[in-house]
Amino acid sequence: MTVNEAMLQKNAQREKALSDAARKTEELDEKYPDIAEIDKELSSVSAQIISALSSENCSERIEKIKERNLFLQEMRKEKLISYGISPQYDTPVFSCPLCSDTGYDGKTFCSCVIKACARDAYLSSGLGKALLDQTFENFSLKYYGGKAREDMSDVLDICLDYASSFGNGANLLFTGGTGLGKTHLSSAIAQRVIDKGYTVVYESAQNVFDDFETVRFGRGTADTSKYLNCDLLIMDDLGSEFSTQYTASVLYQIINQRLMNGRSVILSTNLGAKELSKRYGERIYSRLLGSFDTCVFAGSDIRLIKLGE
Ligand SMILES: [Zn+2]
Repeated sequence: MTVNEAMLQKNAQREKALSDAARKTEELDEKYPDIAEIDKELSSVSAQIISALSSENCSERIEKIKERNLFLQEMRKEKLISYGISPQYDTPVFSCPLCSDTGYDGKTFCSCVIKACARDAYLSSGLGKALLDQTFENFSLKYYGGKAREDMSDVLDICLDYASSFGNGANLLFTGGTGLGKTHLSSAIAQRVIDKGYTVVYESAQNVFDDFETVRFGRGTADTSKYLNCDLLIMDDLGSEFSTQYTASVLYQIINQRLMNGRSVILSTNLGAKELSKRYGERIYSRLLGSFDTCVFAGSDIRLIKLGE
């Protein structure tokens, strides 16, 4: 969703909230003549203010109008309560309390507009619906015991820091066994980075290599440029693919080109240092050592622990 589309949507939500509320006010006025009387006077307030503005004792008159206005509102509230009706009965209900569905927060676009745009960006990034639930807020250290908890607390800090300072071309290498939270933290970082307006592509290494192969061997069409041009590329599960000399050269090409252009990469793998160097070659391994911060994920498989809860 573009910002324009999000603003149109907000506008429609605001219109609906206002017309729903107006309809309820009409209902009240029909049923309770004393409320109708109050509403009639309240609706003349802006006309009273305009006429007061051109008078000599302007500020004095406006002060009086304000007082009367507050008094009427208070009286209306009490009357509604005495009829057993909530004083908020005909108050507009906006989907965003921050901007009352205007889409602006006073200075710029409200966070609800940014979020509406980001939500689509999440999905087009390759972050599926399930991954969207994996956030920093629900990442829990309670599944890690002893030394692993200390290590993972450090890893969490690195990831939080990475997400908040994103934009400086830094890269991360996540290593460690299955079920230790690599995908969870990748997803959490991706969401923060998308919220800042950057483009993120999140894909399994296998699918990335498949796309390059499809294009290379003319088996069909695939968009490989996104892997080179997005602001953050997250390649999940590196090492689980069927690796060949071709996959190693694609990996080198991706990493090299992205590093040269200052575009960030997060690689996540079950492989250790030795295996990485053996599988993808010294050339890639030294790139990883030189340009990536390594996060070693520790502990026992969280998915198994959660199953037992
Ligand atoms: Zn808003």
